[in-house]
Amino acid sequence: MSKQIQPVRGMNDVLPAEVGVWQHLERVARGVFEVYGYDEVRVPIVEHTELFRRSIGEYTDIVEKEMYTFEDTGGDSLTLRPEATAGIARAAISNGLLRGARHKLWCLGPMFRHERPQKGRYRQFYQFDLEALGFPGPDVDIELIALTARLWRALGLTRVRLMINSLGTMESRALYRERLQQYFRAHESALDDDSRRRLGGNALRILDSKHPGMRALIEGAPLLTDHLDPESEAHLAALRSGLDALGVAYEVNPRLVRGLDYYSRTVFEWVTDALGAQDAVCSGGRYDGLIAQLGGEPTPAIGFAMGVERVVALLTQAGSAPPAATPEVYIVVNGQRAEREGLRLAEQLRDALPGRAVLLNLGGGNFKAQFRRADRSGARLALILADAELDRGVAAVKPLRREDGQIDCPLHELPARIASFL
Ligand code: ATP
Ligand code: MG
Repeated sequence: MSKQIQPVRGMNDVLPAEVGVWQHLERVARGVFEVYGYDEVRVPIVEHTELFRRSIGEYTDIVEKEMYTFEDTGGDSLTLRPEATAGIARAAISNGLLRGARHKLWCLGPMFRHERPQKGRYRQFYQFDLEALGFPGPDVDIELIALTARLWRALGLTRVRLMINSLGTMESRALYRERLQQYFRAHESALDDDSRRRLGGNALRILDSKHPGMRALIEGAPLLTDHLDPESEAHLAALRSGLDALGVAYEVNPRLVRGLDYYSRTVFEWVTDALGAQDAVCSGGRYDGLIAQLGGEPTPAIGFAMGVERVVALLTQAGSAPPAATPEVYIVVNGQRAEREGLRLAEQLRDALPGRAVLLNLGGGNFKAQFRRADRSGARLALILADAELDRGVAAVKPLRREDGQIDCPLHELPARIASFL
């Protein structure tokens, strides 16, 4: 036997037994996005490496160590997208969508990060991504967060909690960064290697460190919220009162900085206590400077990304996804003529019963084996086609989930009789 090929570490198959929950989530989410006027957009999985370097920022975990970067045969440096905002912003610029126009966009797809795989953290993972381009907020900030709250309600998820914060403007952040630099420089010997490197680059990134030894030092660091410019302060106040008015509960967490450089003002994150260490399920924020930084005309914008695997885990745990769909009819066939007739009849029933699953026994087998398959399929009815009955122009219909006995039914009446059974 030849050697088996292993899957790539941290990249998962979603098998039919699990895919029902994914489809439920996708259906509900799509419905919610649509009622808020978001349009679907599909962008490439591969972009020029430069796009992510310039948008996400050099001193971030993603750019420093998590990107799948390769040179293609033409010599270009390309990267599998680690997140979707940069690609969508790039698409808006390349396609001339901006020019003062506004767009509400959503996208679903795989992202790639070379992280240490563990529960809730994978190297290929899926995100829902929503971006509102051209809106200065705070109205759109409030609406976008209300959309996420509605999605949790629609999914029946309750173990999620919202945190918000403001990162101020580029300018107020630059001032704050200096304060932070002074603070961490005074404690330089206590910094881990990553943080020491970031001290020279972007001290704000230190606040995002997951290093346990850094926790106390980070706790004591000056707060960005104490150094906000007046406009950002007003923006945050409006966001808060807007959420209050809509009854969306939140907590202001002045330590919430996000892992990417491009955010400004509003940032938010939904966390859960149900999944262990990987607790962020949806993270987002405003990025007013990004589009100009990528060569587009200055365009205020806000967006978020939601980790699909983590939401699927929440749904599975809460048991709140509907059960998998089962077929309605399973056709059991006995004899050569019955097998041929079965194919024809199955097509006829699929025409007559749109949207209902009709399974035909394929690959032969005796009656017992076929009935076992019929039973396992979850079908409500078995339809039995045998050469002897076909000679009489009838087939037998047998309910599989109740005790009623089987009855003979003329072939031409089958579609109507089955419809009335279901
Ligand atoms: P974390 O703090 O968990 O590393 P992050 O800040 O890197 O998250 P974002 O870049 O904001 O995450 O991505 C948005 C969402 O995507 C996260 O809230 C999370 O639900 C999900 N996510 C991020 N990285 C992964 C991963 N490696 N595997 C699965 N889901 C992920
Ligand atoms: Mg991360």
